[in-house]
Amino acid sequence: IDHKVNKSSLPRYVRVNTLKATQDDIINRFQQEGWFLKTDYEPSLYCKVLKSLTESEFLVDPVIPGLLAFPPGTDFHSHYLNDSGAVILQDRASCFPAFILNPPPGSHVVDCCAAPGNKTTQLAAIMNNEGKILAFDLSKERLVTLQEFINKGEVTNTTVRCADFMTIDPTIKGCESVEYILVDPSCSGSGIAERRNELTDDVRSTAKKRLRKLSRFQSLLLQHALSFPSAKKVVYSTCSVHEEENEQVVEEVSQKFQDKFQLEYILPEWTMRGKDGYNCSKFCLRLDTNQHFTNGFFVACFVLKSENCNSQL
Ligand code: SAM
Repeated sequence: IDHKVNKSSLPRYVRVNTLKATQDDIINRFQQEGWFLKTDYEPSLYCKVLKSLTESEFLVDPVIPGLLAFPPGTDFHSHYLNDSGAVILQDRASCFPAFILNPPPGSHVVDCCAAPGNKTTQLAAIMNNEGKILAFDLSKERLVTLQEFINKGEVTNTTVRCADFMTIDPTIKGCESVEYILVDPSCSGSGIAERRNELTDDVRSTAKKRLRKLSRFQSLLLQHALSFPSAKKVVYSTCSVHEEENEQVVEEVSQKFQDKFQLEYILPEWTMRGKDGYNCSKFCLRLDTNQHFTNGFFVACFVLKSENCNSQL
């Protein structure tokens, strides 16, 4: 891990809430405020351009629909578009799991660890509020924030439940038909730019034990999701940089579920894959702070066998 990029030097990302506004509407609003949308660059140079944004320029993300990038230090917390729920302040990396799960409108979805709700609202927008999302979280306090997000963002297809996902019986009414599942569990948070230095030192000593415990919990949660009888696509993500919470979890679980599920070869054009040394490496995707100007992140996607021809495991 190097120390070149910290939180304050990362671009600020804004996701358009398409349940309330179109990307064009929001771009127009920012342009009316004097922001300049930069478009005159080669798409392959996106990260380079992102790094050198001037203070009045912004960009449209080339991968995540409706995501805009503004220069580091831009503060939209009290901007009227954020207050109204027309935009959501969501880091680039954290937009990947819902984008990859991509549940179609009308589908039935579970978000196992949903609070504070960035990804739940993104899922609802992808589904155009059609179908059903069941959002679980253990933390009552964090669910208050999720509910606020839901109200502000005009999400109407989500039911929120304060519960330990591990105790949810996958065969009960409401769960038996769930096809799409997002597993974004508690993790060490070691990919978050502001925490990276602190945790790296930690990990060398006592935090190793904590990491083992987290890894066990993450693996069980993912296995529970894969045991839902109608599950056909399950995305696993963390904002950790540690293999214990990422490739090791996916490797173990993909072996256990190899009769029913395979890993999907997600975003083939994305060059940063999982760490070498695992069967699952090339199927996983990593985001790196210094390369992608976002928090460190990890994503893998399980699909029901025969659902996807891109997969090989
Ligand atoms: N997906 C969220 C978002 O995008 O806003 C972030 C989720 S955060 C990384 C992990 C969440 O998992 C925490 O809110 C925590 O309370 C919740 N959690 C931890 N263990 C859980 C469990 N056994 N069942 C349900 N939720 C759990």
